[in-house]
Amino acid sequence: MKQAGTTNFVGSADAAHVLDPIPFQIDVADIARRVHLPGTPEDNPEDWRDLAALVARFQTVGRPKAIIRLAAVTSHDANGVTIDGRHYFASSTLAQRLAEQHRLWLHCATCGQEVAPLAEGLDVFQQLWFEELKMALLRAAGKAVQDTIKRAYAVKSLAGMAPGSGDARVWPIEDLRTLFDAFSGQIQSALGVELTDSMLMLPNKTGAGVYFASDEAFASCELCHRNNCPHRRRPFNQELWEKTFPGQ
Ligand code: SF4
Repeated sequence: MKQAGTTNFVGSADAAHVLDPIPFQIDVADIARRVHLPGTPEDNPEDWRDLAALVARFQTVGRPKAIIRLAAVTSHDANGVTIDGRHYFASSTLAQRLAEQHRLWLHCATCGQEVAPLAEGLDVFQQLWFEELKMALLRAAGKAVQDTIKRAYAVKSLAGMAPGSGDARVWPIEDLRTLFDAFSGQIQSALGVELTDSMLMLPNKTGAGVYFASDEAFASCELCHRNNCPHRRRPFNQELWEKTFPGQ
């Protein structure tokens, strides 16, 4: 069983850092709450026992992982930013956020492919548990990314953006390809993550984007009109929307 502890850098080719292994600890009660498992271990022992058994298998087999690369913001224009002199991110919002910044961190974090065989034989409810458990691995990998950047680069607070997060105009999802290109194939080779032609990242519990130093809390959710999103981190911010997209 993996124990919570320190995440180590593994490898540093092309200044990219692979985080693998990433320690994690899954709490059965937390997953039960997230999947709305009825009852308690006392009055619904069968489901709780099955969930605990699946959590134990995830704890043994799961291998969340991530990759981080420090990059230079080499130029800005009104519509986007150029990274390392050759990768262009077409996001006016990102350009505004990076107006005072000369560096950012590209990252990708994933639940990993190792748990995929554990889906075999699960019923329709247990498939939901399975997806929630993969989310737990992704959260562990995402936290490791932030903790590592803060520790390794002495950054106090970070804000992030990702292609495809927020309304489409905030940062078109097609820039995921640019992000993957900026890692020169290392996302695939080190993490086993594939980006399909329709911009799906596989495994499905994978996230990729950028972080930058910022004292101002920000999440793309503030520029997202999607209603009833279960993953919303901050409310829609009308004032910020008008500042970001004046007259629109
Ligand atoms: S509200 Fe939901 S869809 Fe919109 S950016 Fe936030 S997490 Fe993504």
